[in-house]
Amino acid sequence: MLPATGSRLWDTRVVVSGAGSVGSALALGLARQGIEVTLIESRRMGEPGRDRRRFVLSELSAQWLGRIGVTEALWPAVQPIHAIRVDEPGAPPVEFRAEEIGLPTLGYAVDASLLAQAFEHAVRKEPRIQLLDGARIRQRDDTHPVPSLEIERDSGATLTLSPRLLVVAEGQVSSLLERQGFRIRTRDSGQAALVIRLLGLSRVIPDQVSERLGPEGLLALLPESSSEATLTWTLGKDQADHFLAQPPVAQRHQVAHLLGWQPGTLDWREEPVRFDLIRHVVDPPYQAGIVVIGQAAHRIAPFAAQGMNLAFRDARSLIAALVEAEETGTDYGSYAWLEAYWRERRADHRRVSHLTEELPRLFALANPLARLARRSGWRLIQKVPSIRRSILRFGLGWRL
Ligand SMILES: Cc1cc2nc3c(=O)[nH]c(=O)nc-3n(C[C@H](O)[C@H](O)[C@H](O)COP(=O)(O)OP(=O)(O)OC[C@H]3O[C@@H](n4cnc5c(N)ncnc54)[C@H](O)[C@@H]3O)c2cc1C
Repeated sequence: MLPATGSRLWDTRVVVSGAGSVGSALALGLARQGIEVTLIESRRMGEPGRDRRRFVLSELSAQWLGRIGVTEALWPAVQPIHAIRVDEPGAPPVEFRAEEIGLPTLGYAVDASLLAQAFEHAVRKEPRIQLLDGARIRQRDDTHPVPSLEIERDSGATLTLSPRLLVVAEGQVSSLLERQGFRIRTRDSGQAALVIRLLGLSRVIPDQVSERLGPEGLLALLPESSSEATLTWTLGKDQADHFLAQPPVAQRHQVAHLLGWQPGTLDWREEPVRFDLIRHVVDPPYQAGIVVIGQAAHRIAPFAAQGMNLAFRDARSLIAALVEAEETGTDYGSYAWLEAYWRERRADHRRVSHLTEELPRLFALANPLARLARRSGWRLIQKVPSIRRSILRFGLGWRL
């Protein structure tokens, strides 16, 4: 409960703005380490989510979420993934398996709305998190030695907090970042993602994600059961417009064709959901007293299940650094401390940017030479287990 207008309450040293998956995970991770956090969320929470996406959480992310109390309620609803099959039309598929790198799974497919519910449940249960939903930061006053935040709730009630660190995890470029003068580079990728929940399938392997890369875009089929799966299809915006303008029967035929199935072997009830992929990067994602994480800092293509998994690694690394700074009495709001944190994380971000930007470009090249080079690459990957293992580790962010 927010107290009367203008008053102060728990003046936590860390405030997280945005209770999406990344902000919630960060708050939970800190709370589990004994650090009290105020978590601000602009939505009113407690209502069932309507996000129709299906995500893949990597094995390492899922293990961490288990440790911070998130996956317990989620466990019965996740689909373990033991293999990823990648192919390009006309080339033999390559299969990557969890046992090749000694992991129990490669990850878990989970509905975005269920994941959000699991986070909310865990956040509400955690006594070291003060959750303010239906609230947002109205302004940050840094004219004093310790900057203060004025927070306003939908009801009009306000309060002031003076944290040592504000973590912005608002999932988008917020007016707060603009007001604070962060350097934000925005670029329309010219691409969109369509999310389609497919039914009535007969050829889905429940523990396998299938990815198809080609000139029609990137298709990722995330299983739910042997007869249901969610397709995330990243394609040019013009192609998306064209697809959505077609009659439903033609849409179904096209999707069946792209997946290499007979027409009539799939169906869907809900309209495809479209996401236009506007990329942005906040560089650098910190200032004295503020750090930006998750999609607020870096919006990347939804390819190879990287975005949230990358942000969870950022959160884990930030938690470890904060715990150490608390123990040693280091000022973690200082510019130098935040710069050092980000220096550690930069390589992982570069790796994911390359993966998600360059691979789609590579597969969009239709000339015969490029196709030949790709075929040779596929054959090499198929034949050499050590290359497959390196690719898997790279995809899972292991080297970092
Ligand atoms: C189609 C698609 C498929 C994807 N699939 C995967 C996948 O399989 N695996 C993967 O790792 N990643 C995937 N991603 C990426 C993933 O969705 C994002 O990386 C992740 O959701 C980002 O989480 P976040 O917490 O940063 O942002 P969000 O989930 O957007 O959360 C931000 C939160 O901040 C709140 N907020 C906004 N403004 C304010 C404000 N002013 N004050 C307070 N609160 C505010 C919002 O209400 C929201 O709750 C996919 C993305 C897309 C588009």
